Order: sequence, then structure tokens, then C-alpha cells
Amino acid sequence: MEVAIGLAGWAMGSFCSSLPASAHDTLLNRFCQRDSVSGLANRLSSGAHIYLPGSNEFNLSTTRWSTLDAPNVTITVEPATENDVAETVKYANERGIPFIAVNGGHGAITTVGGVKNGIEIWMRSLNKVAIAKDGKTVTLGGGVLAKSVTDTLWRAGKQTVTGGCECVSILGPGLGGGHGFLQGRYGLISDQFVSMNLVRADGSINTIDRTSDLWWAMQGAGHNFGIVTSVTSKIYDVKYPNWAYQSFIFTGKDVEGLYGAINDHLLKNGNQPVNIMEYSFFFNSPDIDPKNPVIMFFILQEGADVVDEKYTAPFTALGPVVSQAGAGDYTQIPEWTGNALTSPPCQKSGLVNTRFPIDLKTYNTKAQREVYDLFSSTLRQIPALNGSLFLFEGYPLQGVQAIPSDSTAYPFRDNHLLVAPLIIYKWNGDKLEKQAKELGEKLRQILFKASGMKELDTYVNYAFGEETVKNWYGSEKWRQDKLRQLKDKYDPKRKFSFYAPIA
Ligand SMILES: Cc1cc2nc3c(=O)[nH]c(=O)nc-3n(C[C@H](O)[C@H](O)[C@H](O)COP(=O)(O)OP(=O)(O)OC[C@H]3O[C@@H](n4cnc5c(N)ncnc54)[C@H](O)[C@@H]3O)c2cc1C
Repeated sequence: MEVAIGLAGWAMGSFCSSLPASAHDTLLNRFCQRDSVSGLANRLSSGAHIYLPGSNEFNLSTTRWSTLDAPNVTITVEPATENDVAETVKYANERGIPFIAVNGGHGAITTVGGVKNGIEIWMRSLNKVAIAKDGKTVTLGGGVLAKSVTDTLWRAGKQTVTGGCECVSILGPGLGGGHGFLQGRYGLISDQFVSMNLVRADGSINTIDRTSDLWWAMQGAGHNFGIVTSVTSKIYDVKYPNWAYQSFIFTGKDVEGLYGAINDHLLKNGNQPVNIMEYSFFFNSPDIDPKNPVIMFFILQEGADVVDEKYTAPFTALGPVVSQAGAGDYTQIPEWTGNALTSPPCQKSGLVNTRFPIDLKTYNTKAQREVYDLFSSTLRQIPALNGSLFLFEGYPLQGVQAIPSDSTAYPFRDNHLLVAPLIIYKWNGDKLEKQAKELGEKLRQILFKASGMKELDTYVNYAFGEETVKNWYGSEKWRQDKLRQLKDKYDPKRKFSFYAPIA
């Protein structure tokens, strides 16, 4: 079958002869001398595409939210069918070429940089959203992004758990758990999965559900076990279409007051109301404070047109420098919170975006002061980092905790807060990279020490990349053993070992 090659009119011969000499020992061997792209093309469906370096689509497919340690790929395959994914995996295996699935391109963990001269399997076209006739499930293509799921379901009076950002996929977050605004009601993204089509390491396509021993791993450590070409997930009638928000900006003097009030009035030791989401971040806003970061704080309430005063009053009493309120429906949340398709996090602007996550149970106000002061002083000393943020997310937990912890590979159902310095900079050499890493690590270590927690739990989808397998997947021995046994059984040759790999 014919496949549209991204670089129009380029026969393989001209591609090979145009390669720079420096590429010959790797690219040339793999793609030109021993085989050709047409060898792969012949195995794919007529709607599939192969994009070569230099084409617009290749550039688009390989442009990532974070540029640090991006996968190095020499062709992109855009499958049009689930079988195209399987054929690409088989093709890569036959030639010993590494491959990686790419979806929204927001996976920033540095381990993906382990892909060298690989094939990118760009999931963009596997984007169906098909609601079942009984209205209880939806089948999603393996490349679908959050916005299209939310919007399609909304038009049918339905919803399900997605991440909060419109340009992030369902499966990128979902295979590692997946947090979202509706998790208090229904659990994590992965808790919604009912069955999935999975291309395994040997290139076979399998439909799996909870009857498979692999199912446990797909709900929290799924990036390690295959490429999901489609997934069927639970959906729900929209019961509370309306949402309200109130946002506040505080200056640094209010650090203790703000985080103490969140503990006392919202978080309540893991008992945050099911219809409340709160989050905050430190960021520089020289108009408000030319010297130090300020703190943006949001409260979102489901089923309300105004956030209840009992939730806002403690924060109003602190005397924010700015306060704003609004209301609308669920689909507008990304716009309010700066996570819409047009918002900065959805633009891939050539920056390094590295997070250093840590899960917490509560805010230690002394430690919050310490990290604020360190964040502030370091950004002043190193202006190249001054676009950085420090994120603190408090989602409701009822739906997450309703599911037994040992029933899925997602390990941190008992934790209450997702916290992460997000160190942002334009790459400018090893020195700055080291400084950025040192800052991120120092910040989370301060919080870790003050937390009294025994283990550093780091949400896998926010991970930097140098954490341990225990940090990502839970420190319990049985979890580690179970993951390794499944890995040995389903991916003995470690083909899926680039995104937070299980050893
Ligand atoms: C702006 C922003 C907002 C975010 N919001 C949230 C949020 O609300 N909730 C949350 O939990 N996380 C959130 N995250 C973190 C997010 O879960 C991870 O960054 C995730 O890796 C992004 O998925 P992606 O598809 O966009 O990225 P990609 O880089 O395309 O994918 C990440 C990895 O997932 C794997 N993968 C992707 N698709 C498939 C598939 N179909 N089958 C098998 N493996 C696959 C691949 O290993 C790939 O390397 C956010 C991240 C950013 C940058």
C-alpha cells in the first residue's frame, strides 16, 4: 500500500543520498542500506503517514513541551489504524530500532531521552471518541486529547475524568493514574478504564480487561507494557454542569497564612469536600512585586455559581492583592485556570520544563516559607530561571480512595497533595541545567524532610527522571516484585523502557 511520505516527492534513494555524512553510521545503516522506509510503508494502511526529518509534520510531531532529553527519532510514523501501530512495532523489532509512542508531547521525564535513532509512533490520528449506545462507556482512540473527549461527551450530556489541560492526552496521564477535576467523584483516569486494545512488545494486538493479570499494571504503570491503540472508559451523566471559581493573588508575606488556611478550611487532613478543587503556584509578577514571587491561588467549586463563602472567607480575610471570581460550566475550567489550547502550557515554545514532584499529606507552613524563600532568592540570583513556577495541587480524594490501593499499580491513593517545582528555562549549557536541577531537588527535599513521610513519593507523570523506581511506583516490596514479574512476562526484552522504566 502506498503511504504518504511527509517529505513530498522524496524517494528513499534521494533521502539516503542527502543524509549528512555524520548520520551514515546510524541512520544510513538502519534505514537505507539494510532496508528502506518503503519497506515499512508497504506494511501500513493507505491512510498512514511516514514523516522524514525536514518535513513540517516531522517537526510538528517531534516538538515537545520540554526540550530537555527529548527522544531522538529519525522517522515519525502516524498510524491510521490500530494495526499500523502493530506493524510498526514489528518492523522496529525486526531491525532492532527503538520506538516510542507520542501523544500530546507533554511527557517531560528525562528517561525518554534514552530513545536514540528511534521511530516515533505519533498517535494523533487514532482520535475517535465513540459513546456506547447504552451511554455508560466511551471508546477512545489511543491518541485522543482531553479537550475532544470532554467536548464530545459534554454535547451528549456526559462526562468522565480527564486531566485538567486541554492539549494533554488521555493515555499519557491515564497510564500513570491520571488526576483530574472529577476524581473526587469517580477516581483517577485509569480507574475509568474498562478494556483496552494493546499492542504488546512483540507487536501483537490484544484486547485486555480486568480478567488479565496485566490489567493491574495498566492502571498506574502502563507506559511500560505496550501501546494502547484504543480504550473503553466509564462515562457519567452530567449532574452538576455549573462550576464557579475564585482566584486570589497573595504576596510572599502571606505564605504561612495561606497554606495554614488551606490545611484548616479545605484540605482538612485528606477530607477536602468532593466538590472542591484548590491549587496554587508561586510565580514572578513584577507588576505586583518587583522583587519576590507572588502566589496565585484558586478555589473551584462544582455545582455552584459562586464559590461558597465558607470556603473563600478565610482567604479574603488574609487580604489578597487581587481577587477575581467567575462561573460557567465544566468545559470552561481549562480557560479559567490557564490550561486551554490557547494557554501558555499548550504552546511548545522551545523551553526546558522540568518538574521535581513530591506527594504530601498536608502543608507544613514552616517548610512552605522555606521553599518560598529559596525559590525567591534563587530566581533573583539566576535570572535565566525566573520564568519558573512552583505548583501545589489539591484535588478531592473520595473517588480515588474508594478504590482499594492494592487493586491497581497506581501507588499513592493515600496521599493528599501533588506538589512540584516547575523549573523553566531556555537551555543554555550544562551549568544552567545543573543549577536548575539543584534548585528543583533542594526544594522538594525541604518539603520531604519536613513532611515526616518515610518515602519520597513522586507522581510518575510529573517525574524529573532521576528518581528511583520505588519513588515512581511505590516502595512496597510486593509492588516492586509484581511489576518486575509482569515486566519479565510481557516485555522481557524491555522494549517499553523509556518512560519511567521499571528496571
Ligand atoms: C501542561 C500540563 C498539564 C498537565 N495536566 C495533568 C493533569 O491534569 N493530570 C495529570 O495526571 N497529569 C497532568 N500532566 C502530566 C501528564 O500526565 C504527563 O506529562 C503525560 O506524560 C503527558 O501525556 P502526553 O500524551 O501529553 O505526552 P506524550 O509525551 O505524548 O506521552 C507521554 C508518554 O506516554 C506514553 N504514551 C502516550 N500515549 C500512549 C499510548 N496510547 N499507549 C501507550 N503509551 C502511551 C509514552 O511512553 C509517552 O512517552 C500535565 C502535564 C502538562 C505539561
